[in-house]
Amino acid sequence: MVDFTLTEEQLQWQQRARDFAQNEILPVAWYFDEKDEMPVFVLKKAWNAGLMNLGVPKKYGGEELDNLTQSLVVEEFASCGPGMATSIFDNGLGQEPIILSDNEYIKEKILSQVIKEFKLTCFATSETGMGSDVAGMRCKAEKDGADYILNGIKYWVTNGGAAKDNGGYASIFATTDRKARHNGIAGFLVDLKSDGVSVMQHIPKMGQRCSNTVALKFDNVRVPADHVLAREGGPGFKLAMKTFTQTRPMIGAFAVGAARSAMEFGMQYALSRKAFGQPIGMFQSIQFKITEMYQKVETARLMIWRSCWEADQGRDATLWASMTKFWSTEAAFEVANDALQIMGGYGYTKYYPVEKYLRDIRLLQIYEGTNQVQRAVIIKYLLKGGYKPIMPRLEDLPRLRAKDIEEAARKGMQQQTVWRCKVCGHHHYGDEPPDECPVCRMKKGVFKKVWPK
Ligand SMILES: Cc1cc2nc3c(=O)[nH]c(=O)nc-3n(C[C@H](O)[C@H](O)[C@H](O)COP(=O)(O)OP(=O)(O)OC[C@H]3O[C@@H](n4cnc5c(N)ncnc54)[C@H](O)[C@@H]3O)c2cc1C
Repeated sequence: MVDFTLTEEQLQWQQRARDFAQNEILPVAWYFDEKDEMPVFVLKKAWNAGLMNLGVPKKYGGEELDNLTQSLVVEEFASCGPGMATSIFDNGLGQEPIILSDNEYIKEKILSQVIKEFKLTCFATSETGMGSDVAGMRCKAEKDGADYILNGIKYWVTNGGAAKDNGGYASIFATTDRKARHNGIAGFLVDLKSDGVSVMQHIPKMGQRCSNTVALKFDNVRVPADHVLAREGGPGFKLAMKTFTQTRPMIGAFAVGAARSAMEFGMQYALSRKAFGQPIGMFQSIQFKITEMYQKVETARLMIWRSCWEADQGRDATLWASMTKFWSTEAAFEVANDALQIMGGYGYTKYYPVEKYLRDIRLLQIYEGTNQVQRAVIIKYLLKGGYKPIMPRLEDLPRLRAKDIEEAARKGMQQQTVWRCKVCGHHHYGDEPPDECPVCRMKKGVFKKVWPK
């Protein structure tokens, strides 16, 4: 049975996250956006409030929240500040490879620690020369006995600088053999206090400016054997992909939270702003805009819940994660854009909140796999055998002749013999196909018997 009712516990998580977001994120979000700085103290408050690291299993002292409940929390954070939501949730992204790995030693060491102490964990696959093409990474992992030595640069690391300052960790993917592409990739947990790890310049951005984005440099960084999350030869690449499957629906939750707020601000404005003697919200074109904004928010949320449900059932959520990520982030961008339009000139100013939502939302189409990459995942499923069609193949399409249909139906639809030209689609009725198709003039061989089956 399909049930969309949230449990009492889920409602409580939602309320806790909403209260936190309204009181701790919303009031400071614009200041830190202007300053282009990540307020680590807000993350510390989230940690103190028990609203960070929510996926950590109970075995290590965590809440082990299911994906759906986590999406409720993420939506609330993003409704007040998508950049801060990214920073808070990024710890979940950094921890996901640990949770999904078989390395019990690291799970015990790191997951237990992040529950007891405020430690940041970041995630790094991307580099200056690659993002979408994960298998094309250059950061090197060379074996030295049982250990590995890392050399190279990871770019776009969200929370990278803050995690290093905080004595935290990074889940890093690097290659043992570039030519082997996917098979060369291995995953590691790197203690950012290790010798040879340095933080490069902060990367200035268009939106989500209160999330910290940096490059991390690795100069002969030794990773002990017991810090390997997944080895080369297949497991490393799979671990990176499985991580994205878990976390992509959360990017959808960022989108819904932010779009919901933009919609609310747009609606408020439509009711108060007057033009031509009435509130602009009385014009049907504005009403239709708002209706569609609401529809996009609600349908995006439904998709998020569905993909979370897939993952929570232990099913492979790859397809739903990709569909959700690209649909909800594009829908959210349209919602914020429409909200800005409703506000006219004020919408474009920094005195009103929507321009920031628009900038923040724009990023969601890029990180954790661009929306083109999500489409590539989906088309692979559709065209390469994953999707199982219900309808007959086009060349087998039966089309009974009108004058015989009732008779044929009475007799179990077996009375007519129907042939279909594979080239032009012409149907021929009779025991034998014609010598030549009367429409495209192809020879008899192009006819296929499509009825009776
Ligand atoms: C603010 C921010 C934070 C980030 N945080 C992190 C992080 O914490 N950790 C991390 O590892 N990475 C992070 N990233 C990196 C992010 O995941 C990449 O930017 C993203 O995957 C795209 O890679 P790219 O920028 O190298 O673009 P490219 O891969 O070079 O792509 C450029 C363009 O080509 C398109 N394209 C590429 N391949 C195809 C294809 N096969 N078919 C069609 N189109 C294609 C892309 O969709 C894109 O439009 C972050 C990025 C940003 C901007």
